[in-house]
Amino acid sequence: MKFSNKHLECELCDGITETKSVSRTFKRFGQEFQFENIEAEVCPNCGEIYFDGKTLKEIEEKIRRQVLPLVA
Ligand SMILES: [Zn+2]
Repeated sequence: MKFSNKHLECELCDGITETKSVSRTFKRFGQEFQFENIEAEVCPNCGEIYFDGKTLKEIEEKIRRQVLPLVA
């Protein structure tokens, strides 16, 4: 994944986010999907994580690719 330099103002504490790789579990279709090394903007003050729309779309597509063969 490409790293962007678009840092955000944290909505919770007004900190400026830093680009980091995070691990996160997403729940879809009643299942859990573990993703590692996802690019995200992370607030150094409160730890809030922000994913951009493109990253979320990629995650959704990867989940769909894993789920569809099971459903079909
Ligand atoms: Zn914050």
